[in-house]
Amino acid sequence: MSRTQQQAPVRAAIYARISRDRAGERAGVEQQERECRALAERLGWEVVAVYVDNDISAYKGKPRPQYRAMLDAVRRGDVGGLVAWHTDRLHRRLVDLEELVTLAETKHVEIRTVTAGDVDLSTAGGRMNARILAAVAQQEVEHLRERVQAKRKTMLEAGAYRGGKRPFGYRKGGMVVRPREAEVVARASRDVLAGRSLKGIARELNQQRVRTSSGAEWTSLSLRDVLIRPRNAGLIHTGKASVPTAELTIVGRAQWPALVDEDTWRAVHALLTAPSRRHPNHKTDPSWLLSGIARCGATGPEGQPCGGVIRATSIGATPSRPNITPTAHYRCAEFAHLTVLVPKTDDYVRQVVAEMVRDARVLALLSPSGDDGRMERGRERRAVLVRQIEQTEADYDADLIDARRFKAKTDRIRVELEEVETLLAEGTRAGVALPIVGARDPGQAFLDAPLDVQRQVLRTVLGVQIMPAAYRGAAWSSDRLALSRVGER
Ligand SMILES: [Zn+2]
Repeated sequence: MSRTQQQAPVRAAIYARISRDRAGERAGVEQQERECRALAERLGWEVVAVYVDNDISAYKGKPRPQYRAMLDAVRRGDVGGLVAWHTDRLHRRLVDLEELVTLAETKHVEIRTVTAGDVDLSTAGGRMNARILAAVAQQEVEHLRERVQAKRKTMLEAGAYRGGKRPFGYRKGGMVVRPREAEVVARASRDVLAGRSLKGIARELNQQRVRTSSGAEWTSLSLRDVLIRPRNAGLIHTGKASVPTAELTIVGRAQWPALVDEDTWRAVHALLTAPSRRHPNHKTDPSWLLSGIARCGATGPEGQPCGGVIRATSIGATPSRPNITPTAHYRCAEFAHLTVLVPKTDDYVRQVVAEMVRDARVLALLSPSGDDGRMERGRERRAVLVRQIEQTEADYDADLIDARRFKAKTDRIRVELEEVETLLAEGTRAGVALPIVGARDPGQAFLDAPLDVQRQVLRTVLGVQIMPAAYRGAAWSSDRLALSRVGER
């Protein structure tokens, strides 16, 4: 090292970049920075800036804003040393390197890398070396790009199944339907759209001894994973299937048969991936009819009508009174000033609803509503928006627009796409009948239906308000319930 102690330390900048190739994954950006800092310390350099280009893949030729900022810092003379993890982090395209070479002609800049040694741009031999490294890097990038494109093309041509375990609904290999499992997927999709809970459907499948493709019992999670697959509609996607519908990338039509039509699958996908589902309320799977549905009819502490949500709790057994059988009570979750026995309340409300749904006018509320062409218009709009996103991506890849405009534009399109997806999902859902519609005796079908179906029917037809007891310890009475037909409230 020729540098003497008296000289001020080299002011250095670290450059780190995440790319999507394997080497990039191995050396995550924090790792890159840590190793670069260690190298700078060994060199006695003072790190004055860190530039990180995050999640930008070099092979798409996208702009690298931090790389530009770093070159500007060299140009201004703010930094005299650059540290990178590998030369391909620094300049992955030959044009990037040439810019640095030109800059090095007028500004003294020393370049060190953690894994590829020094880059000496002050001599002809050093520049040749750097150009060879950059040429190799560029070749790798182009090769990767070719491979990715070739793979995508093959995948599309074959409509191929990408390996892994047998997809539920299909035979091994993923191309031939297993009719009984296909029916399970179709029915569960309809049930989800009719408002049934994943947990309720999973429980029913387990009772019927239907197993997943790996022979396991169903959980709401494994059921969700099967129902949101684009494969169910005969579509191929890239990336994760669990992103919101508007962000899902469908690359083409598969050659395997669909299990459900595309509208149904999209509506199920939209419903099961909606951000609102992450709300804790969606996770609860009440075991009582009125939990979370009935409202409190008591008066609040400040004289206002309470209207709080009613939830079930069990009251009775405590360590000091172990011999008392706990009984479920509904309680006002807002102020806990009101409780009522669960079983008697549920039985009563069930009988009321069973009687109601025998009335054709009430049943009509539960029946599919007609489509007046809105679905078709929505589908057309969605196709236009998807094409716009593809065009924007193509413009970006061709460097016609910069990252900021790319993001602004795709964000704007995605917002509208999300609205269209929601409208379409609602339209599809409105076209799905609850299982009791069409039964010979809808009342009896309601009484026999699983709890989550009963809850969905109840929500559609009846409002339930629970009133305070006339006096403490009063026997249960139907007077405690104020019932109102939905739409009459
Ligand atoms: Zn209350």
